[in-house]
Amino acid sequence: MNVLITGINGQDGSYLAELLLELGHNVHGIVRRNSQSENQTSRIEHIRHQLNLYYGDLTDFASIITALKKSEPQIVFNLAAQSHVKISFEQPVYTMQATGLGFLNLAEAVRIINPAIKIFQASSSEMFGNSSDGDGFQRELTPFAPVSPYGIAKLMAYQTAINYRDSYNMFVTNGIFFNHESPRRGTNFLTNKVCKTAVEISQGKTDALVLGNMHTRRDWGHSKDYVKAMWALMQLEKPTDAICATGITHSVGDVVDHVFGRLKLNRTQHLRTDRKFERPTEILSLCGESSKLRNLTGWKPEISFEQMLDEMVDYWIKELN
Ligand code: NAP
Ligand code: GDP
Repeated sequence: MNVLITGINGQDGSYLAELLLELGHNVHGIVRRNSQSENQTSRIEHIRHQLNLYYGDLTDFASIITALKKSEPQIVFNLAAQSHVKISFEQPVYTMQATGLGFLNLAEAVRIINPAIKIFQASSSEMFGNSSDGDGFQRELTPFAPVSPYGIAKLMAYQTAINYRDSYNMFVTNGIFFNHESPRRGTNFLTNKVCKTAVEISQGKTDALVLGNMHTRRDWGHSKDYVKAMWALMQLEKPTDAICATGITHSVGDVVDHVFGRLKLNRTQHLRTDRKFERPTEILSLCGESSKLRNLTGWKPEISFEQMLDEMVDYWIKELN
């Protein structure tokens, strides 16, 4: 099968590309031009010779048409996005263009070229904002109430996906993914910032970890598990909208405690807070209920929160030595 991945050089794109190669598929991907060409393929360098890559950008309709024509995919995974919530407050217009309108560009290009191409849209738990059911969980029917430009852009894409499914009978599936991490996560996201900085402290390279809000809670899973869920969702007979989550929530403080405990670091000595890392509006708690996905596909997460953080710490110990 020919599969096209937008955002192939991102955290999830790189793991998904590895999974698809293992399964024997032809993997195509869109990368963005960067003045340092190494950065264009930094997470996929080890498999680059097995991939077909095209320059493109979700905000550039013509480049999406070209990539679709060249790759002739049966499935497109739309993983490209300006994916950082805090940065979406600093670049709200670009975030709407890339993360929201970018999906519309892709859906429209597929409709024009070949509406039989199946589309996966990487939707986000950020669409829920501070909305939850009485028991604290978010489910597929929990009302959306996003509180960031990123969440709003993702909601636009989510609704567009449903609209293309209903209007044109296209196979468009929304995976509503909760936070997921790995050593390949950007180091300006919480988990990898904590792991990298804590290892630097343990090696005497820096003195303090400086964070924003310590009390928010997230449902953190591993990216490797979540790309398996993406693939499983696209094997179903019908398109759908489904939550992918572990169902377990931890606080920012829990992340710090686990990583500092592992490296025997003292929180009072090495942890500080600074309001510059806080957001204008914040989601207090995310915890996803993913029985729909589990019942439909048999998927379940295999890597625990603690195993994931340990893997990330080990990665940085090796990398920074
Ligand atoms: P990521 O590491 O930030 O990767 C995003 C990828 O998109 C990067 O390869 C980036 O290119 C590319 N990209 C950004 N803007 C683009 C544009 N305008 N045109 C084309 N490509 C563009 O994100 P991730 O963690 O892998 O997440 C994958 C997807 O899942 C994203 O859509 C994200 O919003 C969504 N999601 C993620 C999570 C999570 O916790 N990780 C949760 C829910 C949903 P460069 O390589 O050039 O930077
Ligand atoms: P998000 O849930 O998609 O925004 O993922 P992040 O990893 O960026 O943030 C997770 C949580 O950690 C949010 O509630 C942030 O406000 C909180 N947080 C606290 N300090 C920091 C920090 O220094 N950087 C980041 N990225 N998040 C932080």
